[in-house]
Amino acid sequence: NAKRQGRNIVRCYDDSMLEVTERRMTLEVELRKALLNKQFILHYQPRINAKTKCIVGAEALLRWEHPTLGSLSPVEFIPVLEEMGLIHEVGAWVMEAACQQLKIWHNCGFSDFVLSVNLSAVQFRDIRLAQEIGDVINRTGITPKYLEFELTETAIMEDVAQTQATLALLKEIGVQLAVDDFGTGYSSLGYLRSFPLDTLKVDRTFVSELPGNSSDRSLTSAIIAMARSLSLHVVAEGIETQEQAEFLLEKQCDEFQGFLYSKPVDSKAFDVLLKSGKSLG
Ligand code: C2E
Ligand code: MG
Ligand code: MG
Ligand code: MG
Repeated sequence: NAKRQGRNIVRCYDDSMLEVTERRMTLEVELRKALLNKQFILHYQPRINAKTKCIVGAEALLRWEHPTLGSLSPVEFIPVLEEMGLIHEVGAWVMEAACQQLKIWHNCGFSDFVLSVNLSAVQFRDIRLAQEIGDVINRTGITPKYLEFELTETAIMEDVAQTQATLALLKEIGVQLAVDDFGTGYSSLGYLRSFPLDTLKVDRTFVSELPGNSSDRSLTSAIIAMARSLSLHVVAEGIETQEQAEFLLEKQCDEFQGFLYSKPVDSKAFDVLLKSGKSLG
């Protein structure tokens, strides 16, 4: 038919650009309905003690399950949510759901369990953030020190004066603060030292070629040593092999997270892992 032909002509004109635009439009239309249609869920990936291999906490990771588009990666849809301004609403849902789940695990007797939640740069810039976090903590009745927020280097280095102010408000509430994907952005060590951070997460790009790659060996050793000298708790992301874990343990990394121990799983599967009480090593 005519419509089909017209479309084909445009496709010949610039096939790849049209595909990108179409995909983007589809995502925007579908994302507007996703919260209401309950298509978001949280998955949880264990964080384990590097020595004992016991679960000490988890990172909450957002998943979007669409009936026809399938399961989409947050790497694809989070930037779209940010540009659409929808990240505030979705981020609020993430916090609420994460805190409710944390409360459940604490009530089951896992009283030291720490749950971390990712915040995007756009959420971090929102002046209502601290108030919103305080409200969700009060509503769900969790103890703030068991909730950790992960911020990327880029987010915290964007406007250091605002970062100081916001981090101070968050520390007043009593939550923990982590710098995520460390090493991939640009960080001033001077500022890093002045921020009230608790945890540093070493990006998995530094871990993936350990222990074979000598520059990655030097870099991860230096990052861990630096973090420890700033009294930061160090977590290595993306552990996939025993050799990576052994190297990082020797360098005194505190915690591990990665497919070697578990992929991110839904709350039911995580419950099974947690209640088995077994070490994942
Ligand atoms: P991230 O915060 O650095 O999360 C870690 C990512 O590494 C997750 O990808 C996780 O599945 C993946 N990962 C963990 N272990 C391994 C491993 O051993 N090997 C490999 N190859 N990958 C591993 P995921 O779930 O696709 O999330 C990607 C990014 O999306 C996150 O990176 C985070 O920046 C963002 N994101 C996820 N959930 C949220 C959220 O609720 N809010 C915001 N603002 N961003 C989120
Ligand atoms: Mg993270
Ligand atoms: Mg990360
Ligand atoms: Mg990452």
